[in-house]
Parts: sequence; structure tokens; C-alpha cells
Amino acid sequence: MHDDTTVDDVIEQRTVRHRRSRRTAVAAALAAAALFITACEKPPYQIVFPVSGASNFTDTFGAPRGTSKHEGQDIFAAKGTPLIAAADGTITWMRWGTGVRSGNLLQLTDDLGWFYYYIHLNNDTPGTDDGVNRYDQAFADGITIGQRVKAGEVIGYLGDSGDAELTTPHLHFEIHKPGGPVINPYGALLDARRFERSPADRAAASPFGAAEAFVTNPDGTVRITGWAIDAIRNEPVRVSAYVAGNLIATTTANFERTDLAPRGRGTRHGYTFPTIGARGGGPIPKGAEMCVVAHSIEGGGSSRIGCSTAPK
Ligand SMILES: [Zn+2]
Repeated sequence: MHDDTTVDDVIEQRTVRHRRSRRTAVAAALAAAALFITACEKPPYQIVFPVSGASNFTDTFGAPRGTSKHEGQDIFAAKGTPLIAAADGTITWMRWGTGVRSGNLLQLTDDLGWFYYYIHLNNDTPGTDDGVNRYDQAFADGITIGQRVKAGEVIGYLGDSGDAELTTPHLHFEIHKPGGPVINPYGALLDARRFERSPADRAAASPFGAAEAFVTNPDGTVRITGWAIDAIRNEPVRVSAYVAGNLIATTTANFERTDLAPRGRGTRHGYTFPTIGARGGGPIPKGAEMCVVAHSIEGGGSSRIGCSTAPK
């Protein structure tokens, strides 16, 4: 029905592969056999179902999509439905942009090298189809490249970005073996367990800290200072500044702050964002909400440690 095959960067390569496979009947038969085999493959553990709550899907792996084939499963649910990490792992690739076939996407890679694509993440204000594409309405707080996540953690929100814009909102979900070959995720989805880390679990895994000062610079940008300490490890944590729901900058909280000593976790946990501005640059928009998110080191959840509203 629609043409949302997969990650754009590999489409070209796949199209070439498919053309070659059509050269002879023998090659076609071999390809069919390979498809059958991949339908039986699964990661060597039970995955967590990637969509929260009510959803539905049928097996459309291998169905024609333009010049190539559907290399995942489309899981249909209401726009904005939380998307769940299928496994413990690391966010290894993201796209925040909807002018391409896949739209907003993220790639989650487990520690064995299996990886998962989540495609068409939400780009609309709740209740609309406006395409505003706020970062925090596509991706959960703290989801950036390199972020560790835990199975069952909310990582994003289902939508219709990219070439799903004129279709029913759905998650296009792919599973790839270490090294890259795609498998049919149908079997793994049927066998998946339903699990969501609770808000309490998320809070327990999150760093604690503060955004202590939001000071307006002469050019209308804002200097934000504060501190953050991981809930589990005594190491510097990453912190991100969000303005009006969009991620603007990420830094590491590792400045010396002797006043933090009574907290018993060392003192190199201070951070400064010297010049936080609007998305794309320039002064902070009047009345915009500014927030600092502290990233969990081991995964399980990141949290907002302080917010302020720019003067009107
Ligand atoms: Zn799809």
C-alpha cells in the first residue's frame, strides 16, 4: 500500500541485490529458500515487544515496495503510543528529520551486535497532523546517539513521519543480524514478551541533579549552569539542554564543584551550557520552556533535572 521500505542509505544496495537475484529462475528459487530460512531466525533471546499497549500487525515481510521489498513489519497503533526498547543496548544511529522516506528513526544495537530499526517516529503535535516535529514528541528524553537503554524502556513515540505521512500511523520495525543481514522479525514479534519499565524504575535509574541558573546573555542566548550525579556510577554524566521541546546541545557534567562534596559522590559533577539559543541558532524565543535532561550512564531512563521559562 505504501512505500516505506526501510532506511534510505541502504535502499540502493538492496535494490541492486534484488535485481541480481532475478537474473535466473535458479537464483529466484534460492532467494525464496533464503526468505523461508530468515523467517525462522530470531535473536538468541526473547525480545520485548517494541510498541506499548494495543497494536496490530500482519506478516508483510518481503512484500513489494516500489523497486524493492518490505524488509520489516509494520505495527499499527495510535499516534504517540510509546515505543519500547526491544533489548538492552545502545542507540547507535538516529535521524531527526522527516523529509526522507524513513522520517524520524533510531537504531538500537544490542551487545551481541543484533540491531533494530524503529522508523516513522512521531512528528506531530498531539491530536494534530501538523508536522511540527518536536524532538521530545519523537524521542524519549535523553535518547541521543550513544545512549545506553534497557529492555522495556520507553525510547520514542509512534507516528507517521517520512513517507508514512499519508498512511495510518505505524512503527516500521526491522531486525538485523550482527554484520547487517535483515531477518523477518515476525517470529520474534509473536514470541516477544510485553514489558515496560515503570516510571518508578525510570526514576531510580536516572541521575539526580539540578539546573541552578538560567542567565540571559547580551545576545539573547541563555547560560545554564548546574550539576548532575548518576544514580549508580560515580562518573561524569552527560546532560542535554532542550528548548521548546527540541534538543539543542549536549555536554558532560565534569566541572569541579567542591560544594557537592557532602553528597558523597565526588565533586566533578558541575556543568555549564554557555550559550543556549533557539533551534537553528539565535536568541531563545520569548516564553519558551528550557529544560536540562541528565542521561543515565547504564540506561533505564534519563530525567529532566530542571526547567525554566524564558521571559515573555
Ligand atoms: Zn514498513
